[in-house]
Amino acid sequence: MQIADNTVVSIHYTLTNDEGEVLDTSRGAQALSYLHGAGNIIKGLEKALLGKQAGDTLAVTVAPEDAYGEYSEEFVQVLPREAFDGIDEVAPGMQFHADIGFGPQIITILNIDANGIAVDGNHPLAGEALTFDVEITGVRSATAEELTHGHVHGPECNHH
Ligand code: ZN
Repeated sequence: MQIADNTVVSIHYTLTNDEGEVLDTSRGAQALSYLHGAGNIIKGLEKALLGKQAGDTLAVTVAPEDAYGEYSEEFVQVLPREAFDGIDEVAPGMQFHADIGFGPQIITILNIDANGIAVDGNHPLAGEALTFDVEITGVRSATAEELTHGHVHGPECNHH
C-alpha cells in the first residue's frame, strides 16, 4: 500500500541538523506512527513520504519554512520579572510553556537583567534545515475513528 492521505504510516527516523548533529531518533525505540495528511508531522517530511511504501528508505532535507519556521526576531521579547511570579528559579536556558501573545508555545530564557527577563519564543529548531533519514516500516488504512480524531490509535496512542 502506498502512502496517501488517510493512511497510517509507521517510520523509523533519524533527524540531523545542518552540522550533522543527531537531534532525535526513533532507532532503539518504537517506530513513529502518524496519520498521513492530518498535519501530524512537519509539512516537508509529510510531502516527501507521499507515494512511498513499506520497506522504502529515503533521506530528505526540509527547509525551515517547511519545518519549524524561519527564526523571527519578533519572538524575542523582554518580559517583566512579574511574568514569572510563582516560579522560584529562573535562569538562562530554562524553557517554559507559555502564552506571551502569539499562542501557546515553548519559550527559552535568554538572560535576566534589571530591565526584565529576555525570552525567545521561537521553536528551538526554527531556522534550521532538518535532514530526516527515514525507513518506512508500515502503511495501513486509517480507521474511521482515527480519521474523526485526526490521529493514530493503537498501542502507541497516548491521546486517550
Ligand atoms: Zn483519538
